[in-house]
Amino acid sequence: MSKNKKLTTASGRPYFENEDSMTAGQRGPILLQDFYLHEKLAHFNRERIPERVVHAKGTGAFGTLKVTTDITKYTKAKVFYKVGNECRVFVRFSTVGGEKGSADTERDPRGFAVKFYTEEGNWDLVGNNTPVFFIKDPKKFPDFVHTQKRDPKTNLKSPTMMWDYWSLNPESLHQVIILFSDRGTPDGYRKMNGYGSHTFSMINDKNERVWVKFHFKTQQGNKTLTGAEADVLKGKDPDYSQRDLVEAIAKGDFPKWALKIQIMTEEQAAQFKWNPFDVTKVWSHSDFPLIDVGILELNEIPANYHADVEQSAFAPAHTIDGIGLSPDKLLQGRILAYPDAHRYRLGANYEQIPVNRPIGSVNHHQRDGMMSVDGNGSDSPNYFPNSFDNIEAYKSYKDPAMKMDSDIADTYDRNENDNDFYTQPGDLFRKVMTDFERKNTVSNIVGAMSGIAGPKREEIVQRQLSHFYKADKELASEVAKGLNIILKL
Ligand code: NDP
Repeated sequence: MSKNKKLTTASGRPYFENEDSMTAGQRGPILLQDFYLHEKLAHFNRERIPERVVHAKGTGAFGTLKVTTDITKYTKAKVFYKVGNECRVFVRFSTVGGEKGSADTERDPRGFAVKFYTEEGNWDLVGNNTPVFFIKDPKKFPDFVHTQKRDPKTNLKSPTMMWDYWSLNPESLHQVIILFSDRGTPDGYRKMNGYGSHTFSMINDKNERVWVKFHFKTQQGNKTLTGAEADVLKGKDPDYSQRDLVEAIAKGDFPKWALKIQIMTEEQAAQFKWNPFDVTKVWSHSDFPLIDVGILELNEIPANYHADVEQSAFAPAHTIDGIGLSPDKLLQGRILAYPDAHRYRLGANYEQIPVNRPIGSVNHHQRDGMMSVDGNGSDSPNYFPNSFDNIEAYKSYKDPAMKMDSDIADTYDRNENDNDFYTQPGDLFRKVMTDFERKNTVSNIVGAMSGIAGPKREEIVQRQLSHFYKADKELASEVAKGLNIILKL
C-alpha cells in the first residue's frame, strides 16, 4: 500500500520520527524538546476512563427497529407513528458484576440496553435479560452491588457475602432462581431475551395513560449453557459472547429480536394482585398477553470500540414524548443514578459524544463545562426567558398527572402482597421449568452455596433454604440434599 498520509502531532504538525527519541548525541539522554515523545506517553497514561461500576464488560452494535404493528392507540411516540417506520438504534450488551476484562460466560444477569435515535430525542430502554431484579428500592443498590463484587479484605468474589445478602433480602428470590437456572449463563448475547424490566407508561394522543412492560424475544432461539459448559468457556474463550456477536454480524448473519409489549390499564393496575410497579414481579402472560410491536435487528459493529461502546451512555431518564416513567421505585432511583454516573465517567457534556448525540435538534440554555464540542450554543442567549431566541417550553409535551394512592410517604408500610416474595419464583420453578432445567438449577445453586464459608455458614444456609422452602418445598429439600445438610425450619 502506498502511504501518503503524513504522521502528525495531535495539534496537526507533520512530524518526522515516530520510533526513535531525540537524544543528546547518539548515545546521550533524551532531550526535553522531543514533545512528540511526551505527547505519546502522556496520552497513553490517560487512555482509561473510569470503568463502569456495574456492567463494565460489554459489547455493542448499531441496527434498526422496524415497526410492524400499529400501537398508536397506546402511544403518540413518533417512533411508532406508522407501521413500516424505521429507527436507528444502538444496543450494548454486558455482564454485570465482573470487571472490564472478566469472562463473558460468568453466571450473571446480562445487560440489554437499547438507545433509539428518534426524531424527538433519544429513548433509552436500559434493561437486562431478566424480567425482574434483585431489589425493588434504589437505597439498597450499593449494598447489593457490593455483595456481587469483591470482598474488601481478600479482594476475592465471596459466595458468603452474596448468600448472606440474598438470604437477608428475600425480595431477591425471584431473580436468584432465574440467575441460577441456565438462563443465568446464556449462550452468547444473540440467543437471549431482553426485558425493559420496569413498568413504564405510554401516553396516546388523547393524553390517556396505560402502563407498559417491554420484551425483546430473541429470534435466534433461546439457548443457554450449562454451568459446566460456561465454566469451560471462561478459560477457553473469555470473550465468547462478544466474539459470537461480532462474528455473526461480520458475516451478515444479523441477529433479530421481536419487540413486544404488555399493557395494563390504570383500572387493572388498581385491581392487580400485586404492586404493578414492583420490579421483583412479572405480569403473567395469560392475564396481560404480549402484543407485537416490531423487529429489532443489529447489523453494524461500530468501527471503534472506545468511541461508541465504551463511551455509550444509557439512562432510563431518557424517555420521549408518548413513553414515560412510572412510580416503580427502582426506576425512579435509576433516573437519578445513571446520568450521574455518566457525568462522572464522561463529563457534563456526555450527550455531545457522537454515539450519545440525538439526531434531532437540541435547544436549551446549558452551557460550558468540560469538553463542550458542539459549538456551545454559539452566540445565542444562555438564559431563559429571554427576548432574543425563539426557544419555548411547549406545554403539549406534559404528561397527564399521575394519581397517587396515598398522600403520606408510606415507604415502610408494605402490604401483605408486596411481601409475597415466593409465589412467582415458585411458579417459575414448578410450572415453567422442565425437569432438566430444575435439575440444573438445583445443582447450580448447590455449587454456589457450597462456597459459603466461615462462622455464619450454617445460619446463612438455613436462612436461604427457608426462602427456597416457601417458594417450593422440593427446591429446598433438593438443595439441602445437595449440600448434605438437614433442612431446619
Ligand atoms: P408463561 O408460561 O406464559 O411464560 C413463562 C416465561 O418464562 C416465558 O417468557 C419464558 O421465556 C420464561 N422462562 C422460561 N424459563 C425461564 C427461566 N429459567 N428463567 C426466566 N424465565 C424463563 O408464564 P407466566 O407469564 O404466567 O409467568 C410464569 C413465570 O414465568 C413467572 O413467575 C416468571 O418467573 C417467569 N417469567 C414470566 C415472564 C412474564 O413477563 N410473564 C417473563 C419471563 C419469565 P421464553 O418465552 O423466551 O421461553
